[in-house]
Amino acid sequence: PMVDEFAPLQTGAMPKLKARLFANENPLGISQKAREALIKAIDIGNRYAWEEFDEMKKLIADKEGVKPENIMLTPGSSEVLLITAMHFAANSGTVVTSRPTYDDLLDKTEVFKGRIVSVPLTKTYQYDLAAMKAKINADTKLAYICNPNNPTGTIVPPADLAAFAQEVSPTVPVFIDEAYIDFLEPGDRPQLGKLVAEGKNVMLARTFSKIHGFAGIRLGYVIAQPDMLKTLEKYTTGEFGISIATLMAGIASFKDLDWQNHCRTENARAREYTTKALTEMGYEVIPSYTNFMLFPIRMKPKTFEGQMFANGVGIQTRTFGGQSWCRVSIGTMDEMKTFVDAFKKVTS
Ligand code: PLP
Repeated sequence: PMVDEFAPLQTGAMPKLKARLFANENPLGISQKAREALIKAIDIGNRYAWEEFDEMKKLIADKEGVKPENIMLTPGSSEVLLITAMHFAANSGTVVTSRPTYDDLLDKTEVFKGRIVSVPLTKTYQYDLAAMKAKINADTKLAYICNPNNPTGTIVPPADLAAFAQEVSPTVPVFIDEAYIDFLEPGDRPQLGKLVAEGKNVMLARTFSKIHGFAGIRLGYVIAQPDMLKTLEKYTTGEFGISIATLMAGIASFKDLDWQNHCRTENARAREYTTKALTEMGYEVIPSYTNFMLFPIRMKPKTFEGQMFANGVGIQTRTFGGQSWCRVSIGTMDEMKTFVDAFKKVTS
């Protein structure tokens, strides 16, 4: 994913790293229950998945307060971003957003000859919803919001997001990429499923790649109006696109709240340690609500990336606002100690 942004990977084989902190993966692995489900799936791999789709959708629907008809399952949420871009880019459709953000849907929109209108993030690196609203006009086909945002790790206040979605969705579908939503404490989440249940034209993209650790297993979904899903489904291989093993593992992982809570708690602990260490070194970390964080660096980005790699630590860099930044994923506590040690070495 996004290899073009990532210089060390272009040189060929992935080097052996002590800390792989460039892809916002779950360093703790998958739930034991998901592992057991994958093993069970071996024996029924000759069968097409059938009732597993219904069971997975029902579990999600019950949690979100929507109906199973409001859910489409996909192999990761990248597929949702792709098909949404394919659909809304048609006839030079315009997507309104705020940047820097996760550019996948926006890049694909351009591939399919759509247009992007973007406003900068606010001074505190949050989505600027008011400025976005001001840009919405008759050409706008979609509003794209990534919340929590990648690469900044920031969120918009849940009430502001809900108000934006309420106000804008009667004219333009509001698409919210919630890949990192599970890292928020349950009480802090925007609960936008409610708006979908009320019939609003709101689309929520979700993934199992993060808290569930399914980045390589591939499972995602979108919560939206049934008509919208019917339209989007035409761009997919539908229920042939997801394996029975993936679904069985997804069902087991979704039910395993202990594992999700463990991953969230460990992530917050390692994030706090890293924030503190960087702050003590005089770096201003943007407060993160996710499993990665962004902070300004004082070296050339590619030099920094290369030297961190040479010390066994994979990270990513960004350049915006006249500043270079390090985006580091939150690994295990040990990996974050390795990161901090390498960072001290490289910057001293
Ligand atoms: N959305 C955001 C904001 C992401 O950061 C990512 C991956 O890092 C994705 C979507 C896509 O993830 P996946 O296709 O693994 O669900």
